Amino acid sequence: MQTITAVAGLRCVLAEARKAGRRVGFVPTMGYLHDGHLRLVEASRALCDVTVLSIFVNPTQFGPTEDLGTYQRDFARDEKLCRDTGVAILFAPDAKEVYPPPFETFVEPGELAKPLCGAFRPGHFRGVATVVCKLFNMVQPDIALFGQKDLQQCSVIRRMVADLNLPIEIITVPTVREPDGLAMSSRNRFLCAKERRRALAISRGLFAAADEFRSGEREADRLIAIAKRHLAMVDTLKPAESPLRRASALCAAAFIGSTRLIDNVILQQVAI
Ligand code: AMP
Repeated sequence: MQTITAVAGLRCVLAEARKAGRRVGFVPTMGYLHDGHLRLVEASRALCDVTVLSIFVNPTQFGPTEDLGTYQRDFARDEKLCRDTGVAILFAPDAKEVYPPPFETFVEPGELAKPLCGAFRPGHFRGVATVVCKLFNMVQPDIALFGQKDLQQCSVIRRMVADLNLPIEIITVPTVREPDGLAMSSRNRFLCAKERRRALAISRGLFAAADEFRSGEREADRLIAIAKRHLAMVDTLKPAESPLRRASALCAAAFIGSTRLIDNVILQQVAI
């Protein structure tokens, strides 16, 4: 595995790989890797010859009061996990490499970025779209892989790729969970033991609602109420057109202590 920090070096190595006819898969991350990230690497390795994983804690997607400064980092551990999982290139640029001053051009996503996390975190998806677009241009992968846990992010990226004619196939990988159901997240490490127990209410609520959906419930408000019953504090559960007629997702975001966690379940539409 090669660890590369400069865009120029990355381009050199990848140009060689492409010349040799290798398919390049790309997994963008903010580091502090867990099994969710590693599942994306495995999916990439199954589809591609060369897997590039980036670690970059992107400042433009954090609001002024958010956890950029305290975001967990452990580069040595991440590097070992990447090597053990078969990452070919670990790309770990610093902020100056990604945003050389005077940086002033952004990708502005549209309607898909407005509800849910976009409403709660103004400017978040503008930062995400900008950095992902830049990373796509640096890596120029054949495919890029994203986790379903960040469902709205997947939608925003897919739309950006279509709207900007980026020749990259986007693959969404199902959410990887802890044995008790909690969606894996780098932010789970912020939870104390009591909060960790409380955090289970998020996935339990979503699973309970998904069970009701499977039993035939189609009223969005009732499904949301079932999920909410498990949660003491909910910041966003966005109602869909009700009764549900199309494939829908039930998305939850909740503060557990001071840590904001998100999760979702896909409600597949059963033919009526
Ligand atoms: P992050 O480092 O949090 O920016 O996440 C990097 C990528 O890993 C994103 O595409 C996430 O959606 C994905 N990811 C994070 N957590 C999980 C998980 N529990 N299961 C699957 N993918 C995940």
